[in-house]
Amino acid sequence: MDHLIHRLNNSRNVLITTHASPDGDAIGSLLAMNLALRGKHKQITLYNESPIPAVYRFLPGVHSVINQMNSAAPFDTAVVLDCGDLQRVGDAARIINQIPEIINIDHHITNTRFGTCQMIDVQACACTEILYHLFERMHVPFTRELATCIYTGILTDTGSFRFSNTNRTTFQICENMVARGVDPFQVAQHVYGTYSLGRIKLLNLALDSIEISENGKVSLMALTRAMLNETGTQPEDSDGMINYARRIQDVKIAVLIQEQTNGGDRSLGQRRPYHVSLRSDGSVDVAAIAAMFGGGGHQSAAGFSIESTLTEIKDQILQMTKSI
Ligand code: AMP
Ligand code: MN
Ligand code: MN
Repeated sequence: MDHLIHRLNNSRNVLITTHASPDGDAIGSLLAMNLALRGKHKQITLYNESPIPAVYRFLPGVHSVINQMNSAAPFDTAVVLDCGDLQRVGDAARIINQIPEIINIDHHITNTRFGTCQMIDVQACACTEILYHLFERMHVPFTRELATCIYTGILTDTGSFRFSNTNRTTFQICENMVARGVDPFQVAQHVYGTYSLGRIKLLNLALDSIEISENGKVSLMALTRAMLNETGTQPEDSDGMINYARRIQDVKIAVLIQEQTNGGDRSLGQRRPYHVSLRSDGSVDVAAIAAMFGGGGHQSAAGFSIESTLTEIKDQILQMTKSI
């Protein structure tokens, strides 16, 4: 850790980034690192390829996140957060690769250890947990704003303290963050309490799409572009819906196949770009399944991207999970 702190302290012009289609932990981490380094008078640029989901736009500093990056030239250091591999950042990975110092801070079991300096803790419930320990060591003051970013990352990556990554440290950190002024009700209202009507209608379509495998152990949920259009929703609005498929009695693996709204040119023919999310009840390692498709993640929550057809993806997954 001290090596990494030394490099952070020596940096001057820093690009901070996280994975495309960011979740609460990705954005919490991005903005927490921003606040910590700003306090140390660094020149900071925040980058994310995707729009920031509406539910996270209450977080401090969120409006300075840019989604265009043309050159690596200004930066001496990149800090890449909550990414198992650099490609998770999206197309900008190519540019980021040219930055001399690349600091990789993450908690995914499939982390490729990319970059020039790593801090990887697969036991951490969220990337913001790793940042908490880091900032403690760096003597960064935990202001209410910083605490809110850290708390939001943990809240969302633990599924509101319900997933198997929730432990004593989770609560100890959150207790500390609440002591620094975080209002759990306010955060919950932003993150979970303000859904558009379209999002609820989309949930209806998602629930209706659920299919169960012959042995009852795999549930499949599918969302298409047409469903987003019909309900006037964005890809981010499907967040959390897979948990309904996961909760079904006897189900060990839940799968959400979501058609992407970008890409998919004519050369693909009938095939389209999809993002596939996998969740398990803890008894099956879905990160290993995702890795077979070129993705990754955690033991109970993983994902991958693929260009294919809905039927083919379903068939492949059912075939692969037949013996569980
Ligand atoms: P998601 O299904 O997108 O909610 O992601 C679940 C977990 O899998 C997260 O921890 C992601 O970081 C990881 N993950 C999702 N998609 C990919 C991918 N294409 N490659 C590697 N990891 C992924
Ligand atoms: Mn994430
Ligand atoms: Mn995370």
